[in-house]
Amino acid sequence: MTSFQALQLQKTPSGIAPTLVSLTREAVPTEGELWVRVRYSSLNYKDGLAVTNRGKIVRGAFPFVPGIDLVGEVVASESDQFHPGEWVIATGWGLGEDRWGGYSQYQSVPAETVIRLPAGMDPRTAMTIGTAGFTAQLAVMALEAQGVSPDRGEIVVTGASGGVGSMGVFLLAQQGYQPLASTGKETSHAYLRDLGAVRIIHRDELGRGAQRPLDSARWAGAVDSVGGATLAAVLSQVGRHGSVAACGLAGGASLETTVFPFILRGVNLLGIDSNTCPQPLREKAWARLASVLTKDAADAMTTLIGLADVPAWSERIVRGQVQGRVVVDLHGA
Ligand code: NDP
Repeated sequence: MTSFQALQLQKTPSGIAPTLVSLTREAVPTEGELWVRVRYSSLNYKDGLAVTNRGKIVRGAFPFVPGIDLVGEVVASESDQFHPGEWVIATGWGLGEDRWGGYSQYQSVPAETVIRLPAGMDPRTAMTIGTAGFTAQLAVMALEAQGVSPDRGEIVVTGASGGVGSMGVFLLAQQGYQPLASTGKETSHAYLRDLGAVRIIHRDELGRGAQRPLDSARWAGAVDSVGGATLAAVLSQVGRHGSVAACGLAGGASLETTVFPFILRGVNLLGIDSNTCPQPLREKAWARLASVLTKDAADAMTTLIGLADVPAWSERIVRGQVQGRVVVDLHGA
């Protein structure tokens, strides 16, 4: 390998331009002990913001290689923990934000930020999961830890047709829950039912915000990737001692609510941060993912694209037009 391809964000007089470039090993900053041949990456909402330069996602210097997820084979290692030939997953810990990320055929990665690809998991499935699926699984585990068991009632999933939402619906259904999908996409109803949604509501029902501080209790818990007025509405309709896992802000970052759900119904608002999730919990979540997600199920929610397609798909994801998960094939045709 003398040179390889990457998608780089380059500064131009008019802003930031995503550009396909040819790199050599020497051109890549050494960030860790592992030199990985990246097989797949994925496209998350955060990647969309980085590539379209709509959010302050990239904190490293430009030119910069984005991509917050990667799976690949270790080809050189200065770590005792990982050896050439082993497959690793890297998500979070600043990948694609502080450090160069997954949109490169090879990448330098610190050993303490990766986990081994779980036994039996196909690399492409790992990237169908990616940060979105990992986050959804952390949300399910956070609800569980607060005693939200499947027999307590329905769990509403907002932004249901998106990456975190799709994975949330699927993972809840696979783990015995009754997911209720909230979506703005009529065209995604059949897809969401196939993933396991027991009911579907239009996202406008929640998007208007809480109609009163405490509304009729409709669900035992929630996985929310929308935030803003939607999260406020969700909180006002959680039953006694229910919990809400707050994952995202696709609909807004501010939260206008009252304390009533918390002090009159014992509702818990649980924060989910996949980026800095400690390694032991990370490994536990990936092991659970390996046990519930088959390759066929993963493929059904995946759109496979190449590196050159990332800019166009980034536009689509920031506009909320993507269904399911987008996997980037680094070595495809
Ligand atoms: P996607 O774009 O794949 O999904 C977001 C979904 O939210 C859309 O598909 C759409 O679903 C809905 N949506 C989009 N815009 C709006 C809007 N203006 N109002 C209401 N609903 C909207 O993104 P991801 O699933 O990758 O990420 C979702 C959120 O979670 C993002 O904010 C992201 O930053 C955050 N996130 C947080 C993580 C963490 O660790 N906390 C990790 C990963 C993601 P529909 O059409 O079905 O309504």
